[in-house]
Amino acid sequence: MSLPTTDVKTEDLIAQAAKTKQLIVQKFGGSSVSDAEGIKRVARRVVDAQKAGNEVVVVVSAMGDTTDELLDLAAQVTDSAPAREMDMLLSAGERISMALLAMAINKFGASAQSFTGSQAGMITDGIHGKARIIDVDPHRIRTALDKGHIAIVAGFQGMTRSTREITTLGRGGSDTTAVALAAALEADVCEIYTDVDGIYTADPRVVSTATKIDRISSEEMLELAASGAKILHLRCVEYARRFGVPLHVRSSFSQNEGTWVMPSADDKITIQEGVALEQPIISGVAHDRSEAKVTVVGVPDIPGKAAAIFQVIAKAHSNIDMIVQNVSTHGTGRTDISFTLPIVEGADALTALRAAQPEIGFENIEYNENVGKLSLIGAGMRSHPGVSATFFKALSDAGININMISTSEIRISVVTHADLLDDAVRAIHKAFDLDGDAEATVYGGTGR
Ligand code: ADP
Ligand code: ASP
Ligand code: MG
Repeated sequence: MSLPTTDVKTEDLIAQAAKTKQLIVQKFGGSSVSDAEGIKRVARRVVDAQKAGNEVVVVVSAMGDTTDELLDLAAQVTDSAPAREMDMLLSAGERISMALLAMAINKFGASAQSFTGSQAGMITDGIHGKARIIDVDPHRIRTALDKGHIAIVAGFQGMTRSTREITTLGRGGSDTTAVALAAALEADVCEIYTDVDGIYTADPRVVSTATKIDRISSEEMLELAASGAKILHLRCVEYARRFGVPLHVRSSFSQNEGTWVMPSADDKITIQEGVALEQPIISGVAHDRSEAKVTVVGVPDIPGKAAAIFQVIAKAHSNIDMIVQNVSTHGTGRTDISFTLPIVEGADALTALRAAQPEIGFENIEYNENVGKLSLIGAGMRSHPGVSATFFKALSDAGININMISTSEIRISVVTHADLLDDAVRAIHKAFDLDGDAEATVYGGTGR
């Protein structure tokens, strides 16, 4: 399934990307550089891009599952690692791959220099583990390019301006490093190289018949990323949209054309020769196992209590997703409020809530990590009735019980038991005729 190919703006972008001399930012994910062979394969590709006459900046992730392995190691040492030290540890992963890639490129006869996030001018706020980029000063990268080098930058990391502390951007954050550099350097294109041929209508590891999308609007990609499709980091999509960076998501294992994410905000419907071409109703299905469900039981049903709960959660720097408030149980004057948040933020949120229990006056907290979220995304939902009916019928036919529901203009999400999530994704994918004819190729990675 693909979007109409008549969007003038996107055509311009692709034409621009095809011109001979370009500044290209290429980002290679962990599965593309999982071992020495992978690093050499990527190095050849990078050298080829430079030989074709381009200026090339490369952003790399940590090799394979290095970041997860470092997390496991830390967990064996302590259950309360200081956030600062976690960032010192995790940022080491990307330093290994950047240096090895630079070595491999030099071996192949081109000249490369590697830079840590701080050397590359990635300035962030000070929230360890999920820092936000607040400024990029790429002058060292620009100088390296001017001298004819390929610049290799460690993804996922930055530095605070005043205290010069090392920070990381959150899991999957190298995508955001790449787009931020592309914006700061006014690159022609940001290529995100990964282990699948592009963005599909569902995760090809779960739905083998998922269909590759040729072009997707940033609006829909934002919803997909926010709903857990980890093919792109959410903030990368936000950044690309804000700064108009053309994103091309493709495989580092093949030469196939990937998926273009159209950055402009006005690319929803294209009118050509008087004909309104609509986007497909549905662009895809996303799933997410990284969230837990919290239920605050017996909250006094009076104004201000929900505000108090969510203020506590906000102070703990937790990102709330779905929220449901049940109807007050008759006569008790109390109600239950459920919400989901990232599992990694669960412990801090629970501690903060328990501390506030006497003041807020709720009865109990229930916490469940054994849940999964499924989301159906499509800009055409706005104007097509019946999408919800098909959606809920498909889940009921598949015998899947629903815990929570939330919707936006272009998304329907439900929370189910984690064990039922994959079946639910396949059922919805099929119900909306998203299955393709061929099996999607997954070239590498462990899906961890
Ligand atoms: P990288 O290491 O290159 O950053 P990630 O593991 O972060 O790679 O992202 C690529 C993975 O995203 C794919 O292997 C696939 O399992 C998963 N994925 C989830 N949703 C989608 C989707 N809609 N389209 C393609 N891949 C998806
Ligand atoms: N290495 C980091 C992670 O595994 C960042 C990234 O790969 O984008 O999350
Ligand atoms: Mg990634």
